[in-house]
Amino acid sequence: MARLRFLGAAGMVSGSRHLIEAGRSRVLVDCGLFQGEKQLRERNWERFPVPADTIDAVVLTHGHIDHSGWLPRLVREGFKGAIHTSPATADLLGLLLYDSAKCQEEDALYANRKGYAKHRPALPLYDERDVDRTLRLVKDVPREEWFTPAAGVRCRFHDAGHMLGSSFVETEVAADGGPRRVLFSGDVGRYDAPLYKDPAAPTPCDYLVCESTYGDRDHPAVTPLDDLEAATKEALARGGMMLVASFAIGRCQQLVYLLRTLMAARRIPEVPVWIDSPMAVDAMEVFRKHVAEHDFSEAAMEGVADSLASPFVHMAKTANESKAINSHDGPGIVIASSGMMNGGRILHHLAQRLPDPKTTVLVAGFQAAGTRGRTLIDGARMLRIHGRDIPVRAAIRRVDALSGHADRHELGRWLTGLPAPKQTFLVHGEPPAARSLAEYLQEKFRWQVTIPAIGDTVELA
Ligand SMILES: [Zn+2]
Repeated sequence: MARLRFLGAAGMVSGSRHLIEAGRSRVLVDCGLFQGEKQLRERNWERFPVPADTIDAVVLTHGHIDHSGWLPRLVREGFKGAIHTSPATADLLGLLLYDSAKCQEEDALYANRKGYAKHRPALPLYDERDVDRTLRLVKDVPREEWFTPAAGVRCRFHDAGHMLGSSFVETEVAADGGPRRVLFSGDVGRYDAPLYKDPAAPTPCDYLVCESTYGDRDHPAVTPLDDLEAATKEALARGGMMLVASFAIGRCQQLVYLLRTLMAARRIPEVPVWIDSPMAVDAMEVFRKHVAEHDFSEAAMEGVADSLASPFVHMAKTANESKAINSHDGPGIVIASSGMMNGGRILHHLAQRLPDPKTTVLVAGFQAAGTRGRTLIDGARMLRIHGRDIPVRAAIRRVDALSGHADRHELGRWLTGLPAPKQTFLVHGEPPAARSLAEYLQEKFRWQVTIPAIGDTVELA
């Protein structure tokens, strides 16, 4: 008996969890946090659908919290197996999970102090001790090498080009009548993205589990540099601060590098850039260690390091350094996480500056339904932050060219040449995006495409 169960990221972009069952073996591919709308976030408090101590191993595609952020909770529920992932992801995971634990502990503390907690006292989903125990289980596996996370399941990582360490997973599952091949796309990156390699070609499979984040959209044909130039010029002309909500690792370094490149070429004025993230400095070391992961030379790496060392770039590591940014009127640029504005230091800057019409908020990545980022894009005039309603008078500007996800056309390009799988499952997309990609793939390749719901089980026949 071999089965595949969809336990998350089915009909939504967060909570990636796919369970492979082969005989008595259980292997979980990704273990993400649910993010966005309240009824989704509440799922984080539910017990895992199968007992955690019956799962033999986790195979992790990449470090983003919507793929990795529930691991400490799985460990708290009794998971003791290995967590297999690429060496760069293994190095990043500590930074990411401690940050996630800290965010949750801070949110709980803040909620208790300000008295807006719904549960009293508000508790974090997990804490740093859970993260300690999680990291002890991590085993790094180089890309392109087969490994056996559990009896009857063989896996191999390939570069997905989405972030440092990101992989898609080629899987062979033992079944009656011979092994079945399942390909998990994880998140697929873009072609010709600055600093990142193109995604490797997908491997032949019987079953394809593919992401569909931007399945209903084609990114604009402009280059990230041109797109960023236009948006930044506009923002700085308003005279205020440009707030960029960004994931602290990778995206943040990429942004600073692009901004410094634009400044050096005098395409935008030289203004101070604050990186308001305790993680960004530590992340730089991981970046250096895995320089071969990126699509650039040592010289370009120095360019990234130089741009971060520029006198125009200020790192705010401590809370006091972060607060000091408040006294600046602009023009200037603040980069802070989280990328979807559902936590982190960006919230303090938004609370201070959204009422100011001179402010611009730059939205550079995917914004899931129910996040503050999506609320802003949808034109809200009021945003709730830390229990207060903040009026929105700032300009909201989207820069899709900087997205880390392949769009519909790029997913089509990635899958071109792949022999037709028996069945394709579209996950990690909101329903309109998944439906649109399903139609596209059915028309382009004549494939059998299904959009699974949470809890669906498929026999790997
Ligand atoms: Zn991702």
